[in-house]
Amino acid sequence: MSQKEASTKSINVYVNEENKATICCPYCGYTATVSAEKLSTDKKILKTRCTCGKGFLVCLEFRKHYRKKVRLAGTMRNLRTRKVTDIVVRDLSGGGIGFTVLNQIVPEVGDVLDLDFTLDNANRSKISVQVSVRTVKERFIGSQFATQIIPRELGFYLMK
Ligand SMILES: [Zn+2]
Repeated sequence: MSQKEASTKSINVYVNEENKATICCPYCGYTATVSAEKLSTDKKILKTRCTCGKGFLVCLEFRKHYRKKVRLAGTMRNLRTRKVTDIVVRDLSGGGIGFTVLNQIVPEVGDVLDLDFTLDNANRSKISVQVSVRTVKERFIGSQFATQIIPRELGFYLMK
């Protein structure tokens, strides 16, 4: 690669229904969710610079309900009840995770959960994230990430 300084990498980023975008640095994998309100929303392509010092282009795609449909086995640990339950992750987005609980013990809205699951990527990456419960529909739980920064493997996975 003789022109590595001349070519700037670009990534596609989905802006979710909460106007948030998960940006994953194509160089180091640092992943963070930012509010699209801070970005100029009329501009679809913007330049950004990562904490690693590399600059790259971000192409924003305003998709109202972008969710990646998945079927991934995992567990949830409810920090309130300390109970561990098997789950199946059903959708992933930059804002959170939707999953089905495999028994009758469903969490309540506002509960904070530790989720562990394995991605179906080449590395079978193990993901551990903390989420808070936003919706409960029978055994389907909608949750949002409890932290600003999500695991880098998950960021890469969402870009595919
Ligand atoms: Zn970086």
